[in-house]
Amino acid sequence: MQIRDVRFIALRQPLQQPLRLAWGAMHHRNFGLVLVETDAGISGVGETSVNFPSWAIVERKATIEEGLKPLLVGEDPLNVAGLWQKMLHAFSRLGVLWGKGAVMSAIGGVDIALWDIAGKAHGKPIYALLGGSQPARAPLYATGLDPAQLADSARRFVDQGYRAVKVRIGFDEARDIANVEAVRRAVGDAVEVLVDANMAYDLDRAKRMAEALQPYRPYWLEEPLLASDLEGYRTLKEHTDIPLAAGENQFDVADATALLDTNAIRYLMPDPTRAGGLSEAQRICALARARGYPYSPHHYGSDVGFAAALHLISAVTGADYMLRDVSPAPLRESVLREPITVVDGCALTPTGPGLGIELNWEVVLAHQVRL
Ligand SMILES: [Mg+2]
Repeated sequence: MQIRDVRFIALRQPLQQPLRLAWGAMHHRNFGLVLVETDAGISGVGETSVNFPSWAIVERKATIEEGLKPLLVGEDPLNVAGLWQKMLHAFSRLGVLWGKGAVMSAIGGVDIALWDIAGKAHGKPIYALLGGSQPARAPLYATGLDPAQLADSARRFVDQGYRAVKVRIGFDEARDIANVEAVRRAVGDAVEVLVDANMAYDLDRAKRMAEALQPYRPYWLEEPLLASDLEGYRTLKEHTDIPLAAGENQFDVADATALLDTNAIRYLMPDPTRAGGLSEAQRICALARARGYPYSPHHYGSDVGFAAALHLISAVTGADYMLRDVSPAPLRESVLREPITVVDGCALTPTGPGLGIELNWEVVLAHQVRL
């Protein structure tokens, strides 16, 4: 079997309300799919994270179609490990020049598609190829609550069975604290409340906010500081008992190792659509387990990448609550012909060959952005 083509498919959904995060507003949601086609009639789909900035889809198309595709066409797609090394070798210096995140996210999208092909060729779900024996039932936390009615929105997802919800902070301090308090009151003590600052703080502000949020018993405080501020995390850990979480902006094993070496992070959050695909994300999860920590896959894209994250937690034991984006962006789910099952706040890993999903091409073509 040989790879015949590699294509990037950019999808876009306009949002009714801009989505505010600590690092800016999103006016539409972008999703980046990667399609790898073979001469044997099998094709694989992957996803690469293109949330920020809004023009990331333009860069990613060029990186994948002009940079990675020439390395892959004519190669055996079942040589997943060899092709991963080939892509990394060709791109590692470019990663230093223009950003490891962009390079590893591009490789990640291709890698997931190659695993999808491998699963289809062997008639097995990806988690089985990665060493898992059973499809996981993943407990989720809901993120992307309605900011205009935060407490009601949290309550609604708890009523649907979620045992954990996440509140975005990193905006006005007083309002953030009031929001976390309101959500804690709304959901009660039996539900976990996670908070995510999206790297908004310097060390002083992070210390102050950690202290102010302590009474509401956050399950974790996510990315209070820049992901690269390892010394800051080390110091912050000395000043708070709230468990710290980070890892969506760590793009390979080396990054994750440096983060864990701070001894500050309790929950490591590798994202397969950013950190070099399932190949590298699996190694990062194994690293967390070897250090005795749980891990929590990050994913903020379409349900193609969500399926990949589910295969990851089915392959590596020890996953904690996993992210489920519940914000209004129906394209996230409708790209799949059959939706991923979510019951009682838990997602079921697809069991078909490969990722176990099928693209809904009518939806994909209707939302494709011509770049
Ligand atoms: Mg986050």
